[in-house]
Amino acid sequence: MKFKLDYNYTIQTDLFSFQFQPGDRKEALVRQTLGNATIYMPKNFDFSPAQAQEWANKILAGTLKEHGKIILNNRTLKIAQAHNFSINRICVKDISTRWGSCSSLKNVNLSIWLLLLPSHLIDYVIKHELTHLNHLNHSPEFWHALDDICGGKGHAKRLDKELDDFAKTQLQPRIG
Ligand SMILES: [Zn+2]
Repeated sequence: MKFKLDYNYTIQTDLFSFQFQPGDRKEALVRQTLGNATIYMPKNFDFSPAQAQEWANKILAGTLKEHGKIILNNRTLKIAQAHNFSINRICVKDISTRWGSCSSLKNVNLSIWLLLLPSHLIDYVIKHELTHLNHLNHSPEFWHALDDICGGKGHAKRLDKELDDFAKTQLQPRIG
């Protein structure tokens, strides 16, 4: 996933914040704590060349991966524990075609781009994938089991739609 990045681009969710700031050094400088990252760009940095976009997007993806590995891992372990799912391994990767997936080996794969979502939608994706550990399809039984851990009847499909709408409206502009 690539975005058109500049000093106006920010991520502000209840879990994660990211921004670029003009810097005054020759090289970029990262200031971060878990869940917050500010990238101070090199002095007089110009975002307009394609190469600059490429570089800034690399910084963004790298930062999301670093934070996602901790934040998404912790959330997944917590949710799995609360609802008695046993998982083998959690992988947080730069995948842009889907939010998450899981395998019959009980491995859960999550996209670093989940960090663009508010926490209730991240939790929905995690619960969706964990439910697939027991139901490897989207059968009525799957939705029923997912409803059970999403607050009750109809909640899962409502969250699914919210996730869809969010992706359609909020993840623009994408450039690839
Ligand atoms: Zn699914």
